[in-house]
Amino acid sequence: PDVVNKIAAGEIIVAPVHALKELIENAVDAGSTSLEILVKDGGLKLLQITDNGGGIEKEDLEILCVRHTTSKISTFEDLSSIATYGFRGEALASISHIAHLTVTTKTKEAALAWRAHYLDGKLAPAKPGQSAEPKAVAGRQGTQITVEDLFFNVPTRRRAFRSYADEFNKIIDMAGRYAVHCQGVGFTCKKAGEASNSLSVQAQATVIDRIRYVYGGMVANELIELTVSDDRWGFSANGYVTNANYGVKKSNFLLFINHRCVESSTMKKAIEQTYTSFLPKGGHPFIYLSLEIDPARVDVNVHPTKREVHFLNEEEVIQALCKKIESELAAVDE
Ligand code: ADP
Ligand code: MG
Repeated sequence: PDVVNKIAAGEIIVAPVHALKELIENAVDAGSTSLEILVKDGGLKLLQITDNGGGIEKEDLEILCVRHTTSKISTFEDLSSIATYGFRGEALASISHIAHLTVTTKTKEAALAWRAHYLDGKLAPAKPGQSAEPKAVAGRQGTQITVEDLFFNVPTRRRAFRSYADEFNKIIDMAGRYAVHCQGVGFTCKKAGEASNSLSVQAQATVIDRIRYVYGGMVANELIELTVSDDRWGFSANGYVTNANYGVKKSNFLLFINHRCVESSTMKKAIEQTYTSFLPKGGHPFIYLSLEIDPARVDVNVHPTKREVHFLNEEEVIQALCKKIESELAAVDE
């Protein structure tokens, strides 16, 4: 069964960025307003995320990394929200099968923080011979998750990574996306041992300011705000997209559905197509869209590593978005 667990875990977490995405979502779900990310060797040596959210109760620590442990499904109806909220209770369990996981956490009510180590879904001692029981430590409210030596027990996967820089770039890209999307949340991301942050967004920053910090002023200064909704197709969307005056070298497509970062190559292609007659030759759009779709309409069967998402009336929704973008661009063009 441990081999099975390890294989399953390796399918959910294929690269450090997949672990990071899960950890960011957990921190945001816990109501955090500050999120600090620390990375060593592209996340393979160390991936640490410190939040100031609600924390985890001491009595929940023992089963925290048991598969399907989640505090996020309370009723049967909630099950339908699995679609966009991902595979429930799989992230920490998976990580514990392919890395050394340490959780330090304190709720508002607790007098002290608790620190626990995990391996293969279970509490584990920090060092051989020590007790596996959670230990009381000093700490602030919130949770710090430390993932060390990712894939240490999956040597083939571990060897497949060519460059730490590539993995770090994926991490920064993902952190940047969430930093744009999560209003009210401050983000930093830093390489271990470096003095300055690679990413830094203040909690109170506006969406435009978030885009400015992450993607630069050139992009941020030339955006139009977008809002579209249609009850027939059960969706509403808002976001910011490039206007007709300014194209970027490489197109950027930030898509969130029900606050989860996802991909839709169909939507991306259709929107890029809409831009071709507006942007100067060689220019590509920057697109940030946040869609809310009734969770019951989103495909439950997406595989966790495939971020590609599908939902009911996809064609109609994409058409509505493109039509709106087209009319906005035509208006700017006049
Ligand atoms: P899921 O997010 O689907 O519930 P996870 O394996 O990602 O599954 O997390 C398991 C549980 O651990 C969560 O439901 C939550 O109760 C708790 N948890 C994980 N990370 C945090 C965090 N940063 N702050 C508070 N609770 C957390
Ligand atoms: Mg989670």
